Amino acid sequence: MLQITMPLNFLGTVYREIRQALVDMGEMFGLLDRPAEIRDRPGAPALQVSGGEVTLEDVRFAYEPEREILKGITIRARPGEKVAIVGPSGSGKSTIGRLLFRFYDVTGGALKIDGQDVREVTQESLHDAIGVVPQDTVLFNDTIRYNIAYGREGASFEEVQAAARAAQIHEFIETLPEGYDTVVGERGLKLSGGEKQRVGIARTLLKDPPILLLDEATSALDTETERGIQTALARAGQGRTVLTIAHRLSTVADADRIVVLEAGRIVEEGTHAELLSQQGRYAGLWSRQQAEDEAA
Ligand code: ADP
Ligand code: MG
Repeated sequence: MLQITMPLNFLGTVYREIRQALVDMGEMFGLLDRPAEIRDRPGAPALQVSGGEVTLEDVRFAYEPEREILKGITIRARPGEKVAIVGPSGSGKSTIGRLLFRFYDVTGGALKIDGQDVREVTQESLHDAIGVVPQDTVLFNDTIRYNIAYGREGASFEEVQAAARAAQIHEFIETLPEGYDTVVGERGLKLSGGEKQRVGIARTLLKDPPILLLDEATSALDTETERGIQTALARAGQGRTVLTIAHRLSTVADADRIVVLEAGRIVEEGTHAELLSQQGRYAGLWSRQQAEDEAA
């Protein structure tokens, strides 16, 4: 009965929100990996972002009760800080991103934005505050303009172009026969991985979130493309708190702080220079990747 009496514009809003949430999360985690149902606490307020500080306080998490994935993680990213999370595959890096989105609830400790526990605020406001640049940006079978404008409802064409410029994709778009009206996606013009990613960055820039979450954003790209993306991401990160989850250490060497994760625990933490001089896990990973890069 409730559904029948709900005003149509409300349904439209709900539909858009669900779609946006599915796209953001689907991009990041794969649509098949859907969350268990997590509901807003009744009467939950919207998140009030002041500076965009992100804190993990002794966070514990297990997908399955008998196997703990995060074993007490404490990280503080102050407003505007760039914090990188690195570590071997399976160490729990992406899981931290999923918890920040409240894709799952922690089993111990807490995750907060500007002092507010993510479990205590509406998921809509939480998702509004966090921009994701995923490994693999999903494009709609629609114009490139639509694909960027999707980042924020009601964005003007000028704003779309400004976002594309900042994401270093504007000039490429201008070379297309139909420019911003070129249809892309599976049934349109196929873009390369790097181009898709820049569209994704432009979309996120338009959304203008105070917090950015980058999950291995440049992993699948060649070095030349990677440099272009790095420039775009560095711009995107200006004035925002940025959490970068990465395998490739070269992309995070200039972070304010690097957290090294191993089997769900923080084993090292510091700047690139500090970690190198410690000659521990990070230094080992770094010299291995340098050697691999030279071999390639
Ligand atoms: P990373 O990003 O560091 O490679 P993840 O955070 O993705 O690692 O995964 C950490 C561990 O959690 C891995 O052992 C992975 O197999 C496990 N894992 C990830 N997703 C799930 C899931 N949905 N259910 C059960 N285990 C999972
Ligand atoms: Mg991962």
